[in-house]
Order: sequence, then C-alpha cells, then structure tokens
Amino acid sequence: MFTKWRIFAVNHQRTFSVHLNTMCYCKIKANLKRLKTQLPLTRNYSSAPGIAGSDVKSLHSVINPPVAKIRNIGIMAHIDAGKTTTTERILYYSGYTRSLGDVDDGDTVTDFMAQERERGITIQSAAVTLDWKGYRVNLIDTPGHVDFTLEVERCLRVLDGAVAVFDASAGVEAQTLTVWRQADKHKIPRICFLNKMDKTGASFNYAVESIREKLKAKPLILQLPIGEARTFQGVVDVVNKEKLLWNSNSDDGKDFERMPLSEASDRELLKETIEARNSLIEQLQAAVHRVTLAQAAVPVLCGSALKNKGVQPLLDAVTTYLPSPEEREDRFLQWYEGDLCALAFKVLHDKQRGPLVFLRIYSGTLTPQLAVHNINRNCTERMSRLLLPFADQHVEIPSLTAGNIALTVGLKQTATGDTIVSSKSSALAAARRAGRGEREHGKKREAESLLLAGVEVPEPVFFCTIEPPSVAKQPDLDHALERLQREDPSLKVKLDPDSGQTVLCGMGELHIEIIHDRIKREYGLETYLGPLQVAYRETILNSVRATDTLDRVLGDKRHLVSAELEVRPAEEPCAVAKIEYADCVGEDLLQASREAIESAVHSACLQGPLLGSPVQDVAMTLHSLMIHPGTSTTMVTACISRCMQKALKKADKQVLEPLMSLEVTVSREYLSPVLADLAQRRGNIQEIQTRQDNRVVLGFVPLAEIMGYSTVLRTLTSGSATFALELSTYQAMSPQDQSALLNQRSGLAHVL
Ligand code: GDP
Ligand code: MG
Repeated sequence: MFTKWRIFAVNHQRTFSVHLNTMCYCKIKANLKRLKTQLPLTRNYSSAPGIAGSDVKSLHSVINPPVAKIRNIGIMAHIDAGKTTTTERILYYSGYTRSLGDVDDGDTVTDFMAQERERGITIQSAAVTLDWKGYRVNLIDTPGHVDFTLEVERCLRVLDGAVAVFDASAGVEAQTLTVWRQADKHKIPRICFLNKMDKTGASFNYAVESIREKLKAKPLILQLPIGEARTFQGVVDVVNKEKLLWNSNSDDGKDFERMPLSEASDRELLKETIEARNSLIEQLQAAVHRVTLAQAAVPVLCGSALKNKGVQPLLDAVTTYLPSPEEREDRFLQWYEGDLCALAFKVLHDKQRGPLVFLRIYSGTLTPQLAVHNINRNCTERMSRLLLPFADQHVEIPSLTAGNIALTVGLKQTATGDTIVSSKSSALAAARRAGRGEREHGKKREAESLLLAGVEVPEPVFFCTIEPPSVAKQPDLDHALERLQREDPSLKVKLDPDSGQTVLCGMGELHIEIIHDRIKREYGLETYLGPLQVAYRETILNSVRATDTLDRVLGDKRHLVSAELEVRPAEEPCAVAKIEYADCVGEDLLQASREAIESAVHSACLQGPLLGSPVQDVAMTLHSLMIHPGTSTTMVTACISRCMQKALKKADKQVLEPLMSLEVTVSREYLSPVLADLAQRRGNIQEIQTRQDNRVVLGFVPLAEIMGYSTVLRTLTSGSATFALELSTYQAMSPQDQSALLNQRSGLAHVL
C-alpha cells in the first residue's frame, strides 16, 4: 500500500497536489499537510523523510468512507435552469474549487469538453467527487438537452438520489417532465431546488404549484424564500425556524424575536429544552428522509445559484434527506455475496491514458492492476490504474469500495452500459444463486438477471453521410467512430450498401454536429457531412401474397426452396415483423429452418421498398415452404427474404415520419409570429398556457419541418423564446406530403 502511494507521488506530483488542495476532510487535510510539507517538489520523493505507514492507512479510510456516508447524486433539470451554475457553487462551497466558475464566461469545471464551454451546455456527464461535512458526495452532472436524453438515463441508473433544479420563474418545463419520468422509472428519490429566485418573475408559489400539478409530486416545503426576484435575500429554514440571510446589511426588522432562556438561571431547563428540540428536529428530519426515500414526497428548497444564495443548505439537504447506497435495494446484489460487481456508465477517451471507464461499484472492492470480467462482452481484461474523478482532473487511489464511483484506466473492451465482475467463475456462481432465487419466483433467464439493468438506447431520428478528407483517411475515421460509439451508444454508424458511404445516425441536429466537431478536435480529422436527413419508417396498408422459388446448383449439390407467404398490417404497433406459420408448414421443417426464416424476414424489413427505411407494424404468415433435401440454410434465407421483399413491394405502402412533441416558451408579444410560423411547418397546436407574462405553446410538429428551428425562433422572437423537442411517435404522412418526399428523394424535384 505504502509503495503504491510512493510510486503515485513520484510520478504524479501535479495530481497529488490537486488532491491536497481539494479534499476537505480535516483528517485528510492534517495528514496530507504533513505529507505535503515533507514532500519535496522533485522526483526524488523516495528520500522524503518521516512518512509512516499509518499516514497511508488513514488515507485509505478517508478515501473509502463508511457507505452510510456516501451520496451518489445527480442534478437534473430543463436546459438553462441552472444545473451547471449550481454544480459550480457546490464545488466552490465544498472547497473543491477555489474560484467561482461561470457558465457565461465558459470556465466551469464540469463542462470541460471544449464544445460544452463554447455552447454553454452540458453534454457529457462528468462525475465529481467532493466532501461535505463528513459526507462523500459523488456528483454527476447530467445534461439537459433533449438530444442527450440517453446520457441522462445512463446517469440515473447509477444514482441513489437526485436534485431537480428548476427555474423558479418557469416552474416545471418540458425537459424536467421527461427527466422526472425517467427518475420515476429508476425509482430515484429526489429533492427540488427552486433556483433563480432572484430573477424577474420568480415565484416560489407558482413553482411549487407546478411541481404539484405537472409532476404530480407532493412538495414538502422545507424553506421559504425571503423576498422574491429583486428583493430575494435568503431563505427561511422551516424545520429549524432559522432565517438564513446572505446579505448582511439587509436587516429590515423582520427578524424572528425570541426570548432566550438564560444561561445562568435556567441552565438545566436550557439543556433539556435543547435536547428535546434536537430530538424533535431529528425525528422530523428522519421522517422527511423516509418519505423522500419512499418517493412519497419531495423536499423543496430554494435559492439562487448565480447570486450565491441557498447552495450550502442544498448540500446539507442532500446529505440529510437523500439516501446512501445501502438504503437502496438492488435485488441481484445478494447473489454476488460481496464479490465485485460494477456498472460501466460512461466511457471517455483520453489522449494519453486511452479509454477511461467510469464505474459505479455495487459490491466488492476495486484495486489497480485488477483483472475483471465483463459479462456483456464475455471477456476478461485488466485495469491498470484507479482514479477518483475530479472532473477533468483525476486523483490516483489504491482501492475503492462498494457505493463509490470510480474511474479506471486500462479497460479497452468495456463499453457504456456493461456489467463488470471479478471473474467468470464469480459470475457463474452468482448465476447459480440467481437461478435458484429466480426459479423460486418463477422468473426470467439466469444470465439476463446478472446484468445490471441497462439503459434503453432510443432509435436515432436523424442521419447523414460522413466522408473523410481523403480515401487514405477512411481507416482513421472508422477508428474515431468506433471509439465515439463506445462512449455514446446512441450514436449509430452504418454503411450504405448502395453507395458504400459511412452513415451517422443520431438523436438530433446538435448530437450529429457535436460528433462532427469532436472528430475534428479529438482526432484531427476534417470530415464532410452530407445533408441531414430524417430517419423515416415505412409500413403497408393491405395484405398481399407472394411466392418465390430459388433453384441453384452449387458444385454437385442442388439447392431448391420454394415459399408462399402473406404480409399484412400488424394489429398492434411493432418494430420487428410478427411471424406466423400456417398449419400446413410441417413441424419438422420449421424446427430446422425457423432461425433462417426469422433472419430472412428481419433483414427484408431493414430496407423498405419506398425509401429504403426500416419497415414496421407488419405481420407475415408463411403459408407454404418446400425445401429440397441438402439445401443450405443460406439459400432458405435468401429465398424467403426475396419473397418477403416482393410482397412488400406489391402492397400499398405508407411512409411514417417522426412526429415531435414541441414546447415553445415565448413572451406574449411574440406569440403570433411563432404560431404563424408553426402553422407553416405542419404544426398541430394542442394548447397555449399562460405563465405569467409568457405563453407556452404545446403541440406536435413533424421532425422534417423543424430542422434549424433554433435559429428561426431566435430571429422571430429577438432571442426571447426557448423550446424543447422530443420524439413522440411515427405518424403516417398525408398522400401529398408523401409524394412530395418521394419525388424529392428520386431527384424528380430538380427536373420538374
Ligand atoms: P444549465 O443549462 O441548467 O446547466 O444552466 P446554466 O447553469 O448553464 O445556466 C443557464 C443560464 O442561467 C446562465 O446564463 C446562468 O448565468 C443563468 N443562471 C443560473 N443560475 C441562475 C440564478 O440563480 N439566477 C439567475 N438570474 N440566473 C441564473
Ligand atoms: Mg449545463
């Protein structure tokens, strides 16, 4: 152990001194202060005198605090509600940073990717470890942009609690609702922070009402604001009946008057009173903690991150009301019986260190140089180093226990969402225990239950071609894309079978733009993007039969298959085609070729006859199948696939387009131009709400019509409006719109 620290100190003096500056446990400070003064700032550390093994031991206990003192917390919100600013203040008050970062100046710690600094939004979740009044807080800054919903989900999976930040002048906004639902899904206890209490239009009551009405949550008012908007000065701690004023010269005579018991004459009484009061408050707090944990209610606090008010009590609330890792149950963990089990929730590529994998440790202990087994990929690999994540600075550590967030170096195969255990045999042992447990409950397959519940990857809605600067650079581009995909499973890369071009599929315009940007910055490749295209779907409107026969002699073998099948619209929406077999298809035959048939049907549905888009909501019935003995399954697949394509082609076809739900918040005077513009975009307005001086337009609009909307909206409203978009469903295009699209795709638009 001691040696490890020594090696680390010699090789990483810079990082070491970061650690010295930022950890705020008194104990670590005292120990490290000694170490620091004893540590000459040269590479010749090994000669530093007077370092005892006990120093190192106490460092270990500080690095791994008792699990009850750990809080794995996320901050979630609508974009611009102030997540990043709040995070920065938290880092500042915890002693983690020495100066206040400012999103508007682009120098925050958590938004460390260059694009984030420029755009002032959070894209990648950076995990940050800090200490607050004896608690270890692992803070994961989650992105608020809808293009990055997957990032948010992935973070939620590893959290034990979350702080929902609201703009107190806007209350619950569209994206908050989305993230709130995701947090419900992952059963994450929350507290609410009504930020921007200083802003014009800020209203505590309005925001609380919107939590009640829109989120259907029960607010527990733990604080009241003192003043609102311009007059906001601080908060009242309702539980302790304390007034917290951040502005010392704002004594307005409203101070709570109380006759204190006299120290001298009421000594005993005073002591009893204080004890009684403390235990009452403890009970109150325990009760709030309990209902928060059960998600029966959400504690509500307020403040202004920008004006530096209310953030310290927020941190207190995080440690008092949100749960520790051991208070959260994860059923399958018992099967590991203390063996290592961790979830990779984030992969980043570092130029010097290669892939960095963020792990949430659910059970067991991680140490550097440990060989681990990846269940998803069925491979074993070795991590080299273990770090505590301090945003873009990382501190090397000798071990980390369950409940913590770790950053590992050296895992080259692991991708976002993978489950990591100590060895294959440990996984098998857990599988056996799980198997027993599951059989008792009559549940699922064993292997599946061992994977930490992953995150659903949404289907991309946009795609475009991407080309390297020269053919010689194609391998570099492939390499870059492969890495980016390991970091971000919502990025899909395909090869266009017709043109041979590489195609990027993503969640939104910003998503693809950022990937493009990162390829340039991080891999030094200037790539060219084709026009951004909407990912359509196709379906059919009537049922059609088709037959096909494949007869081929390869070598001395005859391959003969003939099939008759029927395609029809499925009764219920389904992404993959439903397959049925008519009675006359023999059981034996089916047994032998079921897999070939299924893969044929699925591959035929990948590229529909209209636009080459995936075909959905169809069902297929195989009416007859004849296979000559000795025919290979490849031939069976080829025949069925061709027959299926034939049938789809004959049917009446329909293009389905992604329909987005849209929320635009705009000041009253700009409402009409926004509505007029939406009407031209085939928008369908559902509701217009009043939010103080603003109007909130809720509706649906086809994705194809809303490209570049942020620029248009800025121009229309002099920059005063904000909007949020989310995929709602795929809807049938009208015959006119469909034929316009098809003409455009086939190049007819240019001719006419
Ligand atoms: P995020 O998108 O949720 O990360 O929000 P940011 O922290 O980037 O903040 C968005 C904008 O709101 C920035 O211009 C901030 O300066 C501003 N902002 C953040 N907190 C406050 C606050 O408490 N009061 C006011 N008036 N503005 C704030
Ligand atoms: Mg941000």
